[in-house]
Amino acid sequence: MELVYLGLGSNLNHPQHQLNKALQTLANYNGIKLHQVSSFYQTKPLNNANQPDYLNAVAELSCKYQPLELLDILQNIETMQGRIRSDIRWSSRTLDLDLLLFGKRIINHPRLIIPHYQMHLRHFVLQPLYEIAPNLSLPNGQKCKDLLAKL
Ligand code: ATP
Ligand code: CA
Ligand code: CA
Repeated sequence: MELVYLGLGSNLNHPQHQLNKALQTLANYNGIKLHQVSSFYQTKPLNNANQPDYLNAVAELSCKYQPLELLDILQNIETMQGRIRSDIRWSSRTLDLDLLLFGKRIINHPRLIIPHYQMHLRHFVLQPLYEIAPNLSLPNGQKCKDLLAKL
């Protein structure tokens, strides 16, 4: 069984409610099994943008879907929860669902890069990931614990 790790984030319209609602949708989704969820971490926006703080978490799941199918499901959940795609990068959002890791796969597709291209640089990803999977490594063998310590 391949374990999938998902990063969740929200900084609009009651972030705690947004994360809980997304997790409930995933837990009830046909063909998805939600195994673990980290605590919710309050986080400053990237690049000190003038935005509300984020609430971030990481979840571990397994599923019967291929990575691009899962990406479609995640983007539908974002849309259902009122995510508006803006031309401005990293703008405020009700819900962001990023695929961090999909087993040990390495994927370079126009719509999907796995491992997530910046996960090794983001404290708000590595800290909750470490909480639920302290011994996890990236496909290249780097330990998430070591990446976290380096930040
Ligand atoms: P960042 O990717 O830096 O965290 P973001 O989450 O705000 O920024 P989005 O606007 O949510 O970026 O996504 C832009 C596109 O990234 C999506 O349409 C999707 O096709 C693509 N993408 C590539 N790799 C991934 C991934 N691992 N997880 C989710 N989306 C991805
Ligand atoms: Ca993101
Ligand atoms: Ca995203």
